[in-house]
Amino acid sequence: METIVKKINRENLKKEDFSEAVAILRSGGLVAFPTETVYGLGGNALDASAAAKIYAAKGRPSDNPLIVHVAYKDSLFELAKEIPDEAWDLAKYFWPGPLTMILKKKDVVPDGTTGGLPTVAVRMPSDAVARMLIAQSGLFIAAPSANASGRPSTTRAEHVYKDLAGRIEMILDGGSATIGLESTILDLSGKKPVILRPGYLSREDLLSVLPNLEYDPAVIARTTQKDIVARAPGMKYRHYAPKGNLTVYEGGRVEVAAAINRAAADKIREGHTCAVLAAEETAAEYVCPIVKSIGARTQEEIIAARLFDVLRSFDDEGVEFIFSESFSDGHLGTAIMNRLLKAAGYQVIHVPDGDGK
Ligand code: AMP
Ligand code: MG
Repeated sequence: METIVKKINRENLKKEDFSEAVAILRSGGLVAFPTETVYGLGGNALDASAAAKIYAAKGRPSDNPLIVHVAYKDSLFELAKEIPDEAWDLAKYFWPGPLTMILKKKDVVPDGTTGGLPTVAVRMPSDAVARMLIAQSGLFIAAPSANASGRPSTTRAEHVYKDLAGRIEMILDGGSATIGLESTILDLSGKKPVILRPGYLSREDLLSVLPNLEYDPAVIARTTQKDIVARAPGMKYRHYAPKGNLTVYEGGRVEVAAAINRAAADKIREGHTCAVLAAEETAAEYVCPIVKSIGARTQEEIIAARLFDVLRSFDDEGVEFIFSESFSDGHLGTAIMNRLLKAAGYQVIHVPDGDGK
């Protein structure tokens, strides 16, 4: 199939711009669209065959459930049951926005959308293009990240085209996703609320509504430990990975730069293509032929927004070994490091401090 790419002018959103996309969604087809987090691959959430097409297009394992995107807060009534008061409080403060809530599902939501789980993940995006598409379609839209399974998520229409052209009917090109990391996933279906995936909204942001909120142990684990059972099925898959071998270095800035320079020099001597992923402040410390400065540590919003784009760019340049600094400093540190460590398959080197500690 030929994938139509339709540019959307955000300055002047018109109903007509969405009519073809809406017709595709209503007839069970797939449309990729921008959200404020990353691009999503959308299909009718209540149509099991549309959900099956999403899994097929992405090559996604069928037990990894999809997030259902809605245009209105009270859509929760239609999709979920036994909705706790906290869910409405969270919707009041954080919707529309990068928060996904997991609740017990109603029967209308097919097992094909939830990977066979009795729960459903729901999010109301704030991106104007996403909201207009969902509202115009009159549907609930199941939309995982619009990347081929296992690859870095897509933050631009060009990324989506590269991964999914020929597999989906349409891509709405609304420019770059502003946040660049996927939503925070909060499980409200159990006895205690837990964060299953860190995102732009941190645990601290959510404490105002959920004072006892904790991360699921699998989120903060630094390995794929077998004894920690992943509650979001997506947690157990290798994710976000560039084609090259990525290693994350942790430790003092000077020591990390020295260790990366040594490791890169070894690989270059063996004839491999290498690259370094560094913060703006330290990018000049590296002697590798490819050094990508992802942004200043003081502006972690920019680091978050660029992460997937930079990871993808290493593939375009055929890089075999990537050495990365770590970025765990600020408010977004947990989310950024969660994606980076998964991309690295948890390959981390702890560089001792200069005084031998
Ligand atoms: P993606 O949209 O590609 O970011 O993937 C959606 C993520 O949400 C995956 O990691 C899923 O495992 C998670 N998810 C979706 N629905 C549920 C659910 N009902 N229970 C737990 N995790 C879910
Ligand atoms: Mg994804």
